[in-house]
Amino acid sequence: MPRPSLLLLALALACACRAKTATVSEVHSVTGRAFERASERHRMVDGQLAARDIDDAEVLRAMRAVPRHRFMPEAVAARAYEDRAQAIGHEVTISQPYIVALMTQTADIEAGERVLEVGTGSGYQAAVLAELGAQVYTIERIEALADRAAATLRELGYSSIEVRHGDGYAGWPERAPFDAIIVTAAPPELPRALTDQLAIGGKLVAPVGRHVGWQQLVVIERSEHGLEREKLLDVAFVPMLPGLDSSRGPGSK
Ligand code: SAH
Repeated sequence: MPRPSLLLLALALACACRAKTATVSEVHSVTGRAFERASERHRMVDGQLAARDIDDAEVLRAMRAVPRHRFMPEAVAARAYEDRAQAIGHEVTISQPYIVALMTQTADIEAGERVLEVGTGSGYQAAVLAELGAQVYTIERIEALADRAAATLRELGYSSIEVRHGDGYAGWPERAPFDAIIVTAAPPELPRALTDQLAIGGKLVAPVGRHVGWQQLVVIERSEHGLEREKLLDVAFVPMLPGLDSSRGPGSK
């Protein structure tokens, strides 16, 4: 007969293993699917987000659910869960996971809210917002990126996201007001059209600054008395450019 202490140890190990397997398979996306490479996402969330100051349980759940690698070109998809931004073509980057989580947490999004994103890029940030139950409106100035993001989101089953090829400087007045606005390209200063489209009680999170590769991430909150602004940290985003880019297809860069 095994000694009782050994028996207990064996039992404890068996339970721990089962618990671990269960966590990995249990994170289903709002699309009803559990996407591949889950264990890499758990490592990313535990090591890069929860270990820093991301403590909103819903944001952490969303980051565990969205398959970041599916939003990246094949050449870089292997490195999808590293702690860094990655180039996705057209001189554009998909933001570092920590920055996506921080902006999402700061925007304070509840299920059912209307959220505007400026700078669709790959569509990844939009998917994270949709995971929180938001109705998402996202604008991208490069037509090829808008088309690709819309296709990726459709393929993954995200149905609460509208992608539009347009100039984010104008916002999306037909869909305003928004409970939250997340700007993922850096304007030299905050466009008035965007703060005008923020609902009372809503928050806008944006990198702002004139320097390429160095801006300040700010959060603006609209109350009945006006706008309050707070600086979060220094960041490096691609610039928010004026006008539209209609290049598409394999020849475009
Ligand atoms: N949120 C994206 C990353 C965005 S990178 C993601 O999750 O992958 C910034 C994006 O903003 C780029 O795709 C860039 O083309 C876009 N952009 C720059 N200026 C813009 C503008 N005026 N209106 C809309 N999109 C703009």
